[in-house]
Amino acid sequence: MKRKWNNFDVTILGLSKSGISAAKYLASKGANCIISEKREPTPRDEEKIKELKTRDILVETGGHKDETILNADVIITSPGIPPHSEVMQMIRTHNIECFGELELAYRESAKPFIAITGTNGKTTTTKLVSEILIRAGYRAPACGNIGTPATDLIDADIDFFVAEVSSYQIATSKTFKPHIAVFLNYTPDHIDWHGSEDEYFRAKASLFIDRKPAWAVLNAKNLKIAYLKLDIPSETYFFNREAEDKCVYLQDEKILLKDNKKQIYEIMKTGEIPLKGRHNFENVLASVAVCHIAGVEHGVIRDAIMNFTPPEHRLEFVATIDEINYYNDSKATNCNSAICAMRAFEDQKIVLIAGGGDKGTDLTEFSREVKRRAAAVILIGEAAGRFEKDLKQQGVDNIYREDSLENAIDRAGSLKLGPVLLSPACASFDMFRNFEERGKAFKEYVLKKKTAGSR
Ligand code: ADP
Repeated sequence: MKRKWNNFDVTILGLSKSGISAAKYLASKGANCIISEKREPTPRDEEKIKELKTRDILVETGGHKDETILNADVIITSPGIPPHSEVMQMIRTHNIECFGELELAYRESAKPFIAITGTNGKTTTTKLVSEILIRAGYRAPACGNIGTPATDLIDADIDFFVAEVSSYQIATSKTFKPHIAVFLNYTPDHIDWHGSEDEYFRAKASLFIDRKPAWAVLNAKNLKIAYLKLDIPSETYFFNREAEDKCVYLQDEKILLKDNKKQIYEIMKTGEIPLKGRHNFENVLASVAVCHIAGVEHGVIRDAIMNFTPPEHRLEFVATIDEINYYNDSKATNCNSAICAMRAFEDQKIVLIAGGGDKGTDLTEFSREVKRRAAAVILIGEAAGRFEKDLKQQGVDNIYREDSLENAIDRAGSLKLGPVLLSPACASFDMFRNFEERGKAFKEYVLKKKTAGSR
């Protein structure tokens, strides 16, 4: 419910996109806002700070002062700040009201949310759901982790928020209750932030168990997710496997939907889906369920999917050089998404470029999949040593180590053993600012090679 913010003292933790958006919204409603950032400002931050000053938003950098925390009536926290950090402990000790930016948007707007969570596929599914709804005539922008903070849309004229929701955002919201919530898939990730695998699952599951959305869309193939149905009162659509009840599933290379009257409809053929890999079909199935619940005609759903362009850095085709195709899957920052990417090539052996910032997760399944699907592996980054050891244990022997992404691309291409796939299964922070920068570097170098070759 909307609050009167006039003269409230609000501290926003983190000079992030969502933090800045929250501060701008709250300042426009009359709150006294200060953004408190732990790190020292970069030149780019200085620009932002100047602009924020013109809106009477103060910014402190290089640490959170005690009084900035203790004097606040409300604190808006950023998803990047772990719950066990010093500042969060202080907030808890002093019992200061604290929640995240998504929760702020939810409290301030009466519009329904469609929330999409899971370990992988959130961005793809969020973009797809938003595009289908927009094609059907709804004002349903994608927001959340995908780019536009939800608070930017509080005063916008929209029908739905289509929000990509991370486990961090769920953990930092208290009353956020979406109208439709999707649980795409689950594999262990982000353990450093949540403290344990159990906590990570619980954070995602609480979106269903504690918040009780009107509608839940659950992956029937993941038992941990499917069993949530037993604990929630929500109307449920399953996807990914035929179920007794309402569901969307694949059969005979078709997407079928079974509705509440057990009537079965063909939505489209899998050959019409412009996305690579079975994992992407799962994202499509979930999107179909959401848009059917929202009342979109099946023909419109099909048209929107057929016209969908996958988001950048997700199994993105870049170029063909000397008959070798190059794919950028820089967004694969964990083993499971790299496994899915390798599987998308079906019977074709690939040359994999992997490695980067090591997340320390178990590599057994990843290494087995490499053994099955890769003709060679090129390792880069700080994780290269651990990856090499594990891959060798699984019997992978065609392993190369390179000290830069460019050298890795040259090596991969020169082997001529199959399509080259950058799917790192690692974070990017050891060599790049983020996965986008890593993906851009990959594409630029591949395209440069292509131009050089065609001269
Ligand atoms: P997220 O926003 O959850 O990180 P993305 O749509 O950005 O998800 O995709 C992240 C990575 O996971 C990409 O490498 C993509 O190819 C892969 N991926 C996409 N959908 C799935 C899925 N359903 N299961 C496993 N991996 C997936």
